Amino acid sequence: MTLTTSGATVQAAGSTYLVPGFEAAAFPVPTDLLVGEGWVPGSGGQRIDILDPATGGVLTSVADATIADGMAALDAAEAAAAGWAATPPRARAVILQRCFQAIVDNVDWLAQLIALENGKALPDARGEVLYAAEFFRWYAEEAVRINGDISVAPAGGNRIMVQYQPIGVSLLITPWNFPAAMATRKIAPALAAGCTCILKPAEETPLTALAVGEILRQAGVPAGVVNIINTSDPAGVCSAILRDRRTRKLSFTGSTEVGRILLREASYNVINCSMELGGNAPFLVLDDADLDAAIDGAMIAKMRNAGEACTAANRFYVQAGIYPAFVEKLVAKMGALKMGAGTDAASQCGAMINRAAIDKIETLVNDAVAKGASVRLGGKTPEGAGFFYPPSVLADVSLDADLLREEIFGPVAAVVKFTDVEDAVRMANDTEYGLAAYVYTENMKRGLQLAERLDYGMVALNRGLVSDPAAPFGGVKQSGLGREGGHHGLLEFTEAKYIAVNW
Ligand code: ADP
Repeated sequence: MTLTTSGATVQAAGSTYLVPGFEAAAFPVPTDLLVGEGWVPGSGGQRIDILDPATGGVLTSVADATIADGMAALDAAEAAAAGWAATPPRARAVILQRCFQAIVDNVDWLAQLIALENGKALPDARGEVLYAAEFFRWYAEEAVRINGDISVAPAGGNRIMVQYQPIGVSLLITPWNFPAAMATRKIAPALAAGCTCILKPAEETPLTALAVGEILRQAGVPAGVVNIINTSDPAGVCSAILRDRRTRKLSFTGSTEVGRILLREASYNVINCSMELGGNAPFLVLDDADLDAAIDGAMIAKMRNAGEACTAANRFYVQAGIYPAFVEKLVAKMGALKMGAGTDAASQCGAMINRAAIDKIETLVNDAVAKGASVRLGGKTPEGAGFFYPPSVLADVSLDADLLREEIFGPVAAVVKFTDVEDAVRMANDTEYGLAAYVYTENMKRGLQLAERLDYGMVALNRGLVSDPAAPFGGVKQSGLGREGGHHGLLEFTEAKYIAVNW
C-alpha cells in the first residue's frame, strides 16, 4: 500500500476538489472529514496526498483523521443513533431512494473521479457507480420489509415473538478497488436497518467516498447518520473505535491479513463482524462448454477492473479437449484490449493502484515462468510513468506456482490443463480461500453438481459475474464471515430480539 503524507501540501479547512473537465457538472468534493453536522478539517492538521495511478502524480490531499477525530465521529454516530432507529422505515426508504437517484444523476463525473484516483478504465468506473447506486435502491425496497415472526412454542401456551432491531453504531472499513460500491454496499443496508455509521475508506481512494458522503447529505441523510474519516493511521483510529463500547458492529472488506487483526480488535467488546476478505477464484472450463460463452465469461471474470477484484478469476482450469482453443481465443481477446489511463475514453485496461501492486504481479509472474509457465501474452511491465501492467496470459502453469495459491489482483490469466474433472474439483478446492468460483459446461446437471461441491460462498455457472445487490455476496473459509447484499445483507445490521410472551 503506497501512502504519501506530505507536510508541504497542508491545505486550509473547508477545502474541496473539483473533478477536472467536469467543473460545470460536478460539485466540489469536500476533502475534509464528515463528522456530525458537516465537514471538519480534523484536529491534527495533517493531510494525506492522493495519487493518480496513471501518472504517479498528486491529485489533491484529504484531511488525515486522528484518534480524537475518530472518537468525534463515534460521538456523532451515537448521538444520531436513537433518532435514526426511530425514523419510520418508509421515511428511511424515501431517503435511500433519493440517494440512489442522486448517484445515478451524477454518474459521469463520479466515474471520472474513480478513474482518476483508482486508475480503472472509465467503462469499469461507470459500471461501478451504477452498481454502487443500486445498493441504495435495493435497500430502499428492503427497509420496509424487516419482518419478524411469531410462533407457538412447541410446548404450547407461550408465544415466540422475534423482531429484528438495528444492531447499533457500525464501523465500515472499505478497500480501494471499488471505492464507491464497497462503501454503498455497507452504508445502504446499515441505514435501511436503522443504524448510524462511521465509514473509514482506503487511504488510496478517499475522494469517491467523500463525494458519495456529500451526495448523501444533499439527499437528506440526517447529520451524524453517516460519518466519514480518512486516516493514515487506520490501525490506531479503528482500534480506538472498536474498543469503545458504543460501537456494536464492524463491517470490513479487505485483505484476510487485516481481517484477522480486526477480528482480534473486535473481540475485546465482542463486536458483531461481517468480513469480506481475500479470494483465489478458480474458473473451470469443461470440454462441453460453449467456447465463446466461456471466453466472454473469462474476460469479465478476469478483466473487470483489470483483475483488481476479490472475485477475479485467478486460476483457469481448462479440460484437455477444449484447452488449445480456449488459450488461443483468450490470448486474442486479451491482446486486443487497449491499456492506458483510466480517464482516456479508449482505455479498457487501466492502471494498477500503486507500485506495490506491480511488484506483486511481477513477482508472481516471474515465479510462474521460472517454474515452467509459457508466456503467451504480455508478462512484462512497460517502461514509463504510472502503474501499468499489460493484459497477460500464462499457459501450462505448473501446480507449484505461487500464483495458483495467491491472489494476483491484476490482469494476468494463469491457465492450467486438466483431464479428469475430479482433479479440477480437488485443485479448485485446495485453497484456504472460498469466495467465488466459476464453472462453464453445457451440461446443467453436471454444472449444478459441481456448484454444490465447490467450497465457495458463490459459484457462477455459465456466468462471468456474480455481483448483484440483490444476492448474498460472501465467502467461506478464510474469505470471510457473513453476507453483503440481498436480504442477508440487511440482517447483518440487525439483532434478532426474542420476546417470550404469554397472553
Ligand atoms: P489492501 O491490501 O487491498 O489494501 P487492506 O486489507 O490492507 O487491503 O486494506 C483494506 C482497508 O483496511 C483499508 O481501508 C485500510 O486502511 C484498512 N486497514 C488496514 N490496516 C488496518 C488496521 N490495522 N486496522 C483497521 N483498518 C485497517
